[in-house]
Amino acid sequence: MSAYFAPLRDMQFVLHELIGLEEIARLPGCEEVTGDLVDAILDEAGKLARDVLAPLNKQGDVQGCTLKDHVVTTPDGFKRAYGQFVQGGWNMLSCDPDYGGQGLPAVMSTPVQEMWQAANMAFALCPMLTHGAIEAIHLCGTDELKERYLPKMVAGEWTGTMDLTEPQAGSDLSAVRTKAVPEGDHYRLFGSKIFITYGEHDYTDNIIHLVLARTPTAPEGVKGISLFVVPKFLANTDGSVGERNDVYCVSIEHKLGIHASPTAVLAFGDNGGAIGYLVGEENRGLEYMFIMMNLARFSVGVQGLAISERAYQHALSYAKERIQGAELGVRGGEKALIIRHPDVRRMLMSMKAYVEAMRSLAYFTAASLDKASNHPDAAERARHQAFAELMIPVVKGWSTETSIGVASTGIQIQGGMGYVEETGAAQHLRDARITTIYEGTTGIQANDLIGRKIARDKGATAQAVIAMMRTTEGQLAEAPGTDFSAIGSAFSDGVKALNEATDWIVATYSSDVKAASAGAVPFLQLFGVVAGGWQMARAALTAQAKLAAGNGEAPFYEAKIATARFYADHILSQALGLRIAIVKGAAGVLALEERQF
Ligand SMILES: Cc1cc2nc3c(=O)[nH]c(=O)nc-3n(C[C@H](O)[C@H](O)[C@H](O)COP(=O)(O)OP(=O)(O)OC[C@H]3O[C@@H](n4cnc5c(N)ncnc54)[C@H](O)[C@@H]3O)c2cc1C
Repeated sequence: MSAYFAPLRDMQFVLHELIGLEEIARLPGCEEVTGDLVDAILDEAGKLARDVLAPLNKQGDVQGCTLKDHVVTTPDGFKRAYGQFVQGGWNMLSCDPDYGGQGLPAVMSTPVQEMWQAANMAFALCPMLTHGAIEAIHLCGTDELKERYLPKMVAGEWTGTMDLTEPQAGSDLSAVRTKAVPEGDHYRLFGSKIFITYGEHDYTDNIIHLVLARTPTAPEGVKGISLFVVPKFLANTDGSVGERNDVYCVSIEHKLGIHASPTAVLAFGDNGGAIGYLVGEENRGLEYMFIMMNLARFSVGVQGLAISERAYQHALSYAKERIQGAELGVRGGEKALIIRHPDVRRMLMSMKAYVEAMRSLAYFTAASLDKASNHPDAAERARHQAFAELMIPVVKGWSTETSIGVASTGIQIQGGMGYVEETGAAQHLRDARITTIYEGTTGIQANDLIGRKIARDKGATAQAVIAMMRTTEGQLAEAPGTDFSAIGSAFSDGVKALNEATDWIVATYSSDVKAASAGAVPFLQLFGVVAGGWQMARAALTAQAKLAAGNGEAPFYEAKIATARFYADHILSQALGLRIAIVKGAAGVLALEERQF
């Protein structure tokens, strides 16, 4: 079993020194976010992650969930851990105080989320999905729905699910067929949903499903989908649990990873119809889903970061214990720890560099989400909203794709011991694998990026980001030493590649959407690689300033600069190849006829 220790120093560096938490604390509604509070929250969350959630991770993987008579039993210890989680108030961190939440900003909830996901991703999916459901009811529900469901959900007494997928409706939700027939003040739902995370479990005595369905008069396609609250047990007016509703778990999936997270097939209406309550207006369900899908996608990006951190810690501790071979250049020396071999160092540095870049980018985006909601100036709110919307598919798509490579590198460092199941390194890879699929596959994120986020405003938001990157480029040019000239040169090449690829996407999208789409995923990756490099460059500049000021933590800041240098030489250098794949690659992608495959 691998231990997990929250990387508090790096989290604090990013929060305090890189994204300016103090600026967030000055926003209206965020005044409580003092340095002391932040440190106390991170410290306590780190303990729960280390002592309660992480020790259950491997056992949950081995034991998995079971289903009997429509009831799912989660692995030993998970229900108790959920009780501790909820009792500690962790479920309500970012929720609206009007419904019992603590109303903390995204920059605070993001590192805490990272800890839960790193410690035990299968467990952490439950509160993550509950948050999605809370958000949907909060943003679009009537006061009555909010009063009835939010206090229990915010308190963690009831959990929530997001029920979108059906066998014929995966990426394409316009194909949803579940029916919702009006009946007095509610609807009766009939149909079936697949792949529903925590669609059934034993943590709580009620589950609130947020379900996409069509009313009988709804138009075809995306414009005919509505959103409904369908509780497992109806809620009495006094808030207690009432009658059993007609929604049942009929099976759970056997899957590659996240074994402790039950993935349910739900049947609605086999016994007369499941009672559901409309959220917002009829036929606007998909629109509502998209509002909160942004946040859910961001959270899955944080999962990519989190699982990478966990895999890195695991590989690092192995590399510091495993003795194999002699150290190069040391004649007649004793056998050495594998961390002394340059190739193992290369792999560890690559894991570390990716993790730090992903963390900086995710927290930086979280800061923009907070400014988009709370900044007193409307123009600033709009600017940050556009930035966050542009970056969310990048955080989601790039961090999750990267996490698969990072977890795989972790196995490579541990050799055969990484490949066998006993050590748990393989679990990280198996768990990471789902992150590029749910909440929109990487292909769907990339389509969103090039279509809604780049082509729609003719690249204006992307160009504003590139302008911010150019400011950093200027600062790098003035920084002393060979590390900074190497970082500066690789970053300039990366920004140039991103700029050219953005112009190409804008020019091509309207004239040849298939060609643009052929380059969509490489473009998303290019954006991630360069945006990650941007944050690493900013981190190196900050570290340099601290060192110049004689700050006492020289090893930490020197490591930051060295890691940014590694990122520049080994990762930013991919930018050129990605630009070629985007701008010239469509011909190869589209060359073959179907029969030629
Ligand atoms: C463990 C697990 C948990 C899940 N949890 C939930 C949940 O809680 N709630 C829920 O509603 N759903 C959930 N899902 C479903 C998940 O969101 C879908 O699997 C996902 O949206 C992809 O749909 P699909 O599997 O039907 O793949 P498809 O949509 O069939 O996609 C297959 C391939 O085609 C590509 N593709 C499809 N359309 C396009 C396009 N337009 N452009 C480019 N490429 C395209 C995809 O990128 C993918 O590579 C879960 C799935 C799993 C496996």
